[in-house]
Amino acid sequence: MTNSQQLSERARRVIPGGVNSPVRAFTSVGGDPVYVTSGKGARIRTADGQELIDYCGSWGPLILGHAHDVVVGAISAAAEKGTSFGINTPAEVEMAELLCKLVPSMKMVRLVSSGTESVMTAIRLARGFTNRCKIVKFTGGYHGHSDALLVAAGSGLLTGGITSSAGVSPAVAADTFVPDYNDLEAVHRIAEGHGDDLAAIIIEPVAGNMGLVEPDPGFLEGLREVADQTGALLIFDEVITGFRLAATSRGQAVGVTPDLTTLGKIIGGGMPIGAVGGRAEVMQKLAPLGPVYQAGTLSGNPVAVAAGLATLKILTDTNPYPEMARLAERLASGLNRIAEDKGVPLTCVQLGGMFTPFFAVGRPRRLDDVKQCDLKAYARFFHGMLARGFYLPPSQFEVAFVSAAHGDEEIDAFLAAAEDVLGTQAETD
Ligand code: PLP
Repeated sequence: MTNSQQLSERARRVIPGGVNSPVRAFTSVGGDPVYVTSGKGARIRTADGQELIDYCGSWGPLILGHAHDVVVGAISAAAEKGTSFGINTPAEVEMAELLCKLVPSMKMVRLVSSGTESVMTAIRLARGFTNRCKIVKFTGGYHGHSDALLVAAGSGLLTGGITSSAGVSPAVAADTFVPDYNDLEAVHRIAEGHGDDLAAIIIEPVAGNMGLVEPDPGFLEGLREVADQTGALLIFDEVITGFRLAATSRGQAVGVTPDLTTLGKIIGGGMPIGAVGGRAEVMQKLAPLGPVYQAGTLSGNPVAVAAGLATLKILTDTNPYPEMARLAERLASGLNRIAEDKGVPLTCVQLGGMFTPFFAVGRPRRLDDVKQCDLKAYARFFHGMLARGFYLPPSQFEVAFVSAAHGDEEIDAFLAAAEDVLGTQAETD
């Protein structure tokens, strides 16, 4: 038995499913989950001593790679001065100022401790500001695990959603409409029927939770118009995309201004953090200024803020984005070429440093397209790559990342291994 298998067996006795977040259990790719003991740069080391080149990056936060010296230095320096006070600190003011400067549509911002919390706050804020209840989210959009957002079924389009988790009250689900990503027509129909009740339209401006799915040209602009016409707030959930594709939000980069933006992951440099920010008159509804309650013992935690500030400063000073995009483009086009040579139906979609190898022909535009992918082929690819020393997200419905710590060496190695894996796959299929 490997060390990871032993750890997994121990874990399953005391942690539900052996994991503290479900996708780590490898449910969709099968096999034994990996245990990691350390990471540096683009590489992680498993409990069995295997070195892996990491294309998951802790699901997004580690844009600078693992244990970046400056970030670790900032964390240690902050921790030495005290890990938490529950009292205001100068660093959180600096962080709020920096976020508002880098994302000018955020006139005010509040720090929280996770992406889930940031989105939960944004929804409550939208409801409190508009005095309305209903929200629109899109199939395949993941916005953390708060009740109102654990609703997925497209069939609930005009009558309210169907919960996708036990424990979510049907009443909560009924307030959530779930059109397909890129289906502006459906959003118009919802607006016609329920426009006066709509508190918010929430969307990932580039979807990352059904693999990488880009909005069609004009789609985000169309949502902005519907929000303006109905009085609903437009919320861009940028927990993944914030600071991923440029040293700002995706909304800012593409010139579509949401009322609220939610952030997480990268802005904490690998420590737990989240943020919600936007129009001043909306943000001023938050307690203690306004009637919408939100609070947190560890909100604005000094260690997390130090890691985030260090990360954001490196991103703005060094602008690693064009290089990450070049490397990810090399990876994606290389993978597509190999797949074509071997006759494997695969389309690797890439944007900046984000990519997803979809086991299907053509780029998905919505969740149903992704569901048509050959999920078993993804699982075989995942395990083939893992055995050769590469860690990809353990699900077809996730996005992979090239970090600033990756270089041509890591891309060459990935493509050489993929040639091997897809060659074997083509023979067995
Ligand atoms: N929003 C999006 C777009 C996400 O991808 C995630 C997590 O992956 C969340 C919200 C929830 O963030 P967290 O896992 O930090 O609670």
